[in-house]
Amino acid sequence: MKALVTGGAGFIGSHLSEKLIEQGDYVTVIDDLSTGNFNNIKHLTDNPHFNFAIETILDELVIDRLVSECDIIYHLAAVVGVELVVKESVRTIETNVLGTTIMLKTANRYKKRIILTSTSEIYGKGVNDSFGENDDRLMGPIVNSRWIYACSKSLDEFLALAYFNQKKLPVVICRLFNTIGPRQTGFYGMVVPRFIRQGLTGKDLTVYGDGRQSRCFCNVTDVVEALILLSNSSKADGEVYNIGSTQSITICDLAKKIISLTNNSLKIIFVPYEEAYGEGFEDMLRRKPNIKKIHNAFNWQPRISLDDSLQSIIEYEKDLLNIPQ
Ligand code: UDP
Repeated sequence: MKALVTGGAGFIGSHLSEKLIEQGDYVTVIDDLSTGNFNNIKHLTDNPHFNFAIETILDELVIDRLVSECDIIYHLAAVVGVELVVKESVRTIETNVLGTTIMLKTANRYKKRIILTSTSEIYGKGVNDSFGENDDRLMGPIVNSRWIYACSKSLDEFLALAYFNQKKLPVVICRLFNTIGPRQTGFYGMVVPRFIRQGLTGKDLTVYGDGRQSRCFCNVTDVVEALILLSNSSKADGEVYNIGSTQSITICDLAKKIISLTNNSLKIIFVPYEEAYGEGFEDMLRRKPNIKKIHNAFNWQPRISLDDSLQSIIEYEKDLLNIPQ
């Protein structure tokens, strides 16, 4: 198979590209390196199965050529991370809505299967114990730019399903919940790499709010496995799947765990949300996926524990920081 991976120099995209090459596929990455990092794919550049284009997905001519040459598209390119979305709202809307529109339109021109990565953010601030694919969604007010990400991705999903229903475009929607692993950057607000960096560099850990909010963190290796499983089966076409871990942890407990794994002398500092993200920020109290759908249909469930994930990220970060293992 010849795969096109948009956002392939990003955290998840680079792991996906690596896995596809490992299983014998050809991979072309397109990434504008805005949040992606060339170092994430550097080790692949000598591989004859690997190609990359440093371009934006907003360039329709480039996308036309790349889509015409591939067998399958994994669309991951997007502006991600709450902090960046709030700061760079125009870029978020343009990349996430216009970019996906171009990808779907071009995929439809050549009738290529497209795997669209979406996000648990689209469930908004619902208070369900866990979120099922067809649950109602509750968004905050328009004046709060945090909701731009959720709304832009929701529109992407609507458009993808419309292409499937009206034009029979083979498209699969994958709603990724919190994903972690080596190469994820803490620059844009992701909590795990941030805490680990703080721990390894001897800084107290910054917990936003009271730390009672909870998340479920899934290892990127498990997520990539799910994406590939879904891409290989036509029974996934026109369907939406949650992908994530169901092992919940509060952010406070996460901080304590990371302190114990990195540097026991550190403390937790509680930072008010306004200070971290600006006025009027709304956080989700909990976010846990219901993964029955993908489990029943494809027998997928995460295999890697949070402890093992944290350990591998710590090793990766130590390497970057030149700290002996
Ligand atoms: N968070 C935190 N300290 C940080 C970064 C994030 O306490 O330095 C919190 C954040 O407010 C949220 C949780 O950790 O409640 C997860 O944040 P992340 O940005 O990783 O993911 P998301 O909010 O999209 O679930």
